[in-house]
Amino acid sequence: MYKQLYAAVFGLAAAMQGTAPAQEAQMEPLRPDQVAFRALYKELVETNTTLSSGSCTAAAQRMGAHLKAAGFSGKDLTYFAVSEHPKEGGLVAILPGGSSSAKPMLLLGHLDVVEAKREDWTRDPFTLIEENGYFYGRGTADMKALDATWVDMLIRFKNSGYHPIRTIKLALTCGEETTYAFNGAQWLAKNKPDLIAAAFALNEGGGGRTDGHGKLMVEAIQVGEKASQNYRLESLNVGGHSSIPIRDNAIYQLADALTKIRDHEFPVKLSDTTRAFFAKAGAARADDLGAAMVALSKNSSDKAAEVIVSKDRSYHSMLRTTCVATLLEGGHANNALPQRAAANVNCRIFPGETVEATQAALVAAIGDTGVKVTAVPPIRPLAVPPPLDAMIIGPAETLVAKYFPGVPLIPSMSTGATDGIFLEAIGIPVYGVPGGWGDPDGNGVHGLNERRSVRSVYIGRDFLTELVKLYADSG
Ligand SMILES: [Zn+2]
Repeated sequence: MYKQLYAAVFGLAAAMQGTAPAQEAQMEPLRPDQVAFRALYKELVETNTTLSSGSCTAAAQRMGAHLKAAGFSGKDLTYFAVSEHPKEGGLVAILPGGSSSAKPMLLLGHLDVVEAKREDWTRDPFTLIEENGYFYGRGTADMKALDATWVDMLIRFKNSGYHPIRTIKLALTCGEETTYAFNGAQWLAKNKPDLIAAAFALNEGGGGRTDGHGKLMVEAIQVGEKASQNYRLESLNVGGHSSIPIRDNAIYQLADALTKIRDHEFPVKLSDTTRAFFAKAGAARADDLGAAMVALSKNSSDKAAEVIVSKDRSYHSMLRTTCVATLLEGGHANNALPQRAAANVNCRIFPGETVEATQAALVAAIGDTGVKVTAVPPIRPLAVPPPLDAMIIGPAETLVAKYFPGVPLIPSMSTGATDGIFLEAIGIPVYGVPGGWGDPDGNGVHGLNERRSVRSVYIGRDFLTELVKLYADSG
């Protein structure tokens, strides 16, 4: 999801540039706490958590053992797994806070990683290798650096006797990359809402981006995401012999419907997040697109500005719900008139808009009741936009100014999907944290030779330790 964020901030052309690893400066000698953290990060990366051959349950147990050794009691560590998915378990850890009135905060991390084949990689994907200023290995970026940061933070908090005002909870889950298997965040939201109940949650999805040469250009905090929902379009016909055709034909009928969907543009919407995004990201550019972004942020019905901004496909998607045909089926024989034709249309629904309203818009755009439109399970929960809350944004801005003077912090909405949507559905606003950073080449996330800048990992960890303390002590 890192590439997506970069594309959202800089436009897609920049995100597609080059595949050569970017450059990074070297680190100073490590402090003792960083040496301990590195060992934890290494252990986590070297615990294979792919769906095919790994185990999130094993990773959760290893992280839990470190927390237990640091003094977390049995009642503050909850392991969970369902019997049909024994290797896809997770862990919830709790560091109790001193205040009975301040609501808890939740740190969220997925333990699972995308598949990685040794023969395709330059180095072993399940060995942490440090080279040229980068940590290499599957999950180094997405998202075991952040997982290890969360676990290590709780260990240090416990060891130092730190008593936060708010209770700090940590949920390590499985299945973010493979929602069709078992999704731990979704399961917790449904089955253990009290265990993870929180005023807000911190998650992946935010972070900084360099210029590809080690210079940090921007930091982002993710505030909200679109919801992905599939719809099936189906057209039925009595069919017949193809030697005596008529115009009334299931394939033509479906094709007509699909061209209507292609030409349908959902209306422009701005949320607090995207309004702030277009204002800030636009102001950071010195071109016509930047000026149009700023203009649109001030007036969402500025048609001329919207046309310019929508030429960038990422921005186009940030401005509205989008729906696109992705799969097609139809007919049953070369020499028969089709009795059935169907297509899958994948919609990315703007926060706050419903699955039903989006379906109604598709039906209206098609304008042919002979084409049946149905929402395909799983029906995604409504993407609830988290508020652009000053209590969350303020401390992040303060720390970005301290750690990265001159670098802007931009709120962003993801056009993709994270586990955040499941928590937002039960009333926990989720924020993708700034701090660490990636490069325009995408750092091999979900692909080959995944890597994370060494400085990004250590500096991001210091940044997040301060950020979590600011939140935890703001009862
Ligand atoms: Zn991830």
